Amino acid sequence: MNPIGMDPVDYPGNLFVVAAPSGAGKSSLVKALLELDSHLAVSVSHTTRTPRGQEQQGREYHFIAEAEFRAKIAAGDFFEWAEVHGNLYGTSRAAIESRIAGGQDVVLEIDWQGALQIKKIFPHAVLIFVLPPSWEELRQRLMRRGEDGDAVIATRMANARIEVAQARHFDFVIINALFETALFDLKTVVHSQRLKYAAQRRNKSQVFAALNLI
Ligand code: 5GP
Repeated sequence: MNPIGMDPVDYPGNLFVVAAPSGAGKSSLVKALLELDSHLAVSVSHTTRTPRGQEQQGREYHFIAEAEFRAKIAAGDFFEWAEVHGNLYGTSRAAIESRIAGGQDVVLEIDWQGALQIKKIFPHAVLIFVLPPSWEELRQRLMRRGEDGDAVIATRMANARIEVAQARHFDFVIINALFETALFDLKTVVHSQRLKYAAQRRNKSQVFAALNLI
């Protein structure tokens, strides 16, 4: 049980967790999915890293100081949190739980450590890992982004090898070779989750009741 008095397993909303190494195209896929699917909301994480480029406070992230982040950990404010590439990142418990308890589907774009923590607390969460089609393509994409120098790209590639090795713990794998195909795959995963017996029973309770399926 939790502060809102419902077992997470009984929440009517679905929770999708998308992880990938940087450069695999996770953010673009999730952004496109959100534009197509009005029943899906994204959760804005907290982080101790500083904003990049056009990022705005409260839009991409809630940017906070490390002391504040650690106070939130101590207060149990995070559903999950992890250190990624030297910075702290966390998902607010209140934002997630109130949404899925209210029947909204939520997508989290987080790293694999956070994804595995969530699966422990909330076994119904659907874990999706986005893979690049090859190491070479990943390196090319990181270089094309033009955000990072050679040393940072080398670090990201080394981290990517560790991250990709975690894909086996995920429920679904999407290979992002062609963006449109990967987006179709992502939509299919989301849609199929909504067709599961338990999800249909929660969301179409009147139909189930009328058919004496309780
Ligand atoms: P970036 O700093 O490039 O935006 O994100 C770095 C990594 O941290 C990405 O893999 C991103 O998905 C992950 N991340 C973002 N928010 C969270 C979060 O709330 N929790 C965890 N565990 N990882 C996160």
